[in-house]
Amino acid sequence: MYDYLVVGAGLYGAVFAQQAKACGKRVLVIDKRPHIAGNVYTEDIEGIKVHRYGAHIFHTNEKRVWDYVNKFAAFNRFTNSPVANYHGEIYSLPFNMYTFNRMWGVVTPEEAKAKIEEQRCAAGIEEPKNLEEQAIRLVGTDIYEKLIKGYTMKQWGRPCNELPAFIIKRLPVRFTYDNNYFNALYQGIPIGGYTAMVSNMLDGIDVMLGEDYLTDRERFNSMAEKVVYTGAIDAYFDFCEGALAYRSVRFETELLDMPNFQGNAAVNYTDAKTPWTRIIEHKWFEFGKDTDGNELPKTVISREYSSEWKPGDEPYYPVNDDENAALYAKYKALADKEEKVLFGGRLGEYKYYDMDAVILAALDMCEKELNFTACVK
Ligand code: UDP
Repeated sequence: MYDYLVVGAGLYGAVFAQQAKACGKRVLVIDKRPHIAGNVYTEDIEGIKVHRYGAHIFHTNEKRVWDYVNKFAAFNRFTNSPVANYHGEIYSLPFNMYTFNRMWGVVTPEEAKAKIEEQRCAAGIEEPKNLEEQAIRLVGTDIYEKLIKGYTMKQWGRPCNELPAFIIKRLPVRFTYDNNYFNALYQGIPIGGYTAMVSNMLDGIDVMLGEDYLTDRERFNSMAEKVVYTGAIDAYFDFCEGALAYRSVRFETELLDMPNFQGNAAVNYTDAKTPWTRIIEHKWFEFGKDTDGNELPKTVISREYSSEWKPGDEPYYPVNDDENAALYAKYKALADKEEKVLFGGRLGEYKYYDMDAVILAALDMCEKELNFTACVK
C-alpha cells in the first residue's frame, strides 16, 4: 500500500514524487511509456543526447525552481538563439536589432522603432484582437509576413487572425543586439540529459513503466490512498464532455554522416511551403561536441511536423481557444469533485506550460498537499 500513486513520470509527477518521498510518504510512480521523464526524455544516439519529444531548453526567473533543479543536475551554459530561415534568407531570433538590421538595414533602435510604427499605422492597428494584429503591432508587417505568418500557420494549423494574441507574446521583442531567445535569469541544459535529471529525482522511488492507469484503474486505485494524475484530463473522464483539442508534433529523426548539418541547435523554417516547422540539431545543445580536431564525426537532426491531434497521437500543445477553454472548465469542475485524485501538469491542467512553470506548479501543490515546510527539500 502506498500513500500516493503518481500517474505519469514526467516533470510534474517526478517533482511531486520526490517531494512526497522527502516528506516520508510511500510513493509509486507509473507511466504508460517504457521510459521515465515524459516529454523531456533524452536518449543517447552515438554519444549525442537526443530530445526525443522535441527540444527542451530550461529557463526560469524563479530562483526557487533553479535551485530545485540544480539539486538533481548540473546545467551547462546553453543559450537558445534560434535562427529563422525564410526561403534561404537567414534572420536572428527572437526579434531584435540583428533581425531589424537584416530586414530593413536599420542600425539604431530609433530607426527600428520608427519602421515598426510606420508599418503598424499603415495596417491601422490600435487594440490587437488576435495574433496577427498583435504581431504587426509588435514588429510590423514585414516581420509578420516573413517570420511569423507561415510558421504560426504551420504550428497551429489555423490562420493568425483566429489565434489568441498571447501566443506571440511568449517571444521577446528587443531593441538591443541580443539573440538570447529567453529573458529568463537562469538558462541551460542538464549535463547528461534530462532523463538522468529525472532519474535522480526518482531515486529510491518505486517506478513501474509500460503501465496504463486508465485501462486498469481499479487495481491501481486500490494500491494507494491518493492519486496524482498527470495524464490528459479528458481521457480520465472517458471524454464524457467531448475531446479537448491538441496540436501534435511528428519528429523525423536522422543520424547523419557529417559533423555539422546546420551550425545551430534550432533553425525555424518560417515560410508556409516547407512542410516542417523547424530542424533541431541535437549536438549543439551540448558543449564539447565541436572541439577543434575532436569533433564528433556524426550528427543527429530532427525535423518537426506539426499536426492536429487525433486519437493515438501524442498530445503536445493544448489549443487555447474559447471553445476548448469552455470544455476544459467542464472537466475541471468534474476533477474538483474527485476527492482522492489531484490533477496536475500540462495534460492534467490542459495548460501551455513551460518546464519551469510545471515545476513551480508541482512545488506549490506539494506545499498544500504535503505540508511542505516540514519536508527536507
Ligand atoms: N513564432 C513564430 N516564428 C518563429 C518562432 C515562433 O511566428 O520563428 C510564433 C509561433 O506563433 C509560436 C509562438 O511564436 O507558436 C511561440 O513560439 P515558441 O518558440 O515560444 O513556441 P514553443 O517553443 O512552445 O514551440
